[in-house]
Amino acid sequence: MTETVRTGGCACGAARFTTRGEPDRVGLCHCLTCRKAHAAACFPFAVFRADQVETAGDLASWESSPGYHRNFCPACGSRVTNETGGEIEISIASFDEVGVFAPQYESWTVRREPWLPPLPLPQYDRNRGD
Ligand SMILES: [Zn+2]
Ligand SMILES: [Zn+2]
Repeated sequence: MTETVRTGGCACGAARFTTRGEPDRVGLCHCLTCRKAHAAACFPFAVFRADQVETAGDLASWESSPGYHRNFCPACGSRVTNETGGEIEISIASFDEVGVFAPQYESWTVRREPWLPPLPLPQYDRNRGD
């Protein structure tokens, strides 16, 4: 069986990543930390096992909560990977191609921008499963 290989990276190209196989899940987070860290209304992400992801290039890191590391390119500031508990989250928007994944649920909807309508997906007020 051939695994699907996908590539992406930061805006300036100094930090790159490769994923192998399919993500465990794809979500969209409206939480305050994601909003500010990504300087965006929400963070659409695909979650892979750490062993499915390889990165190349320097990454700086910020531990936004214990054990949750948000890694970014020190040259251009783009978010590249978030690592926690053996999993890596990557923004859908960081892949080289458009349309690779679509969210399956929304979390932290209490922080949704009022102009942004809910998608027809499971909605979680806070974390998924809370
Ligand atoms: Zn960069
Ligand atoms: Zn979040």
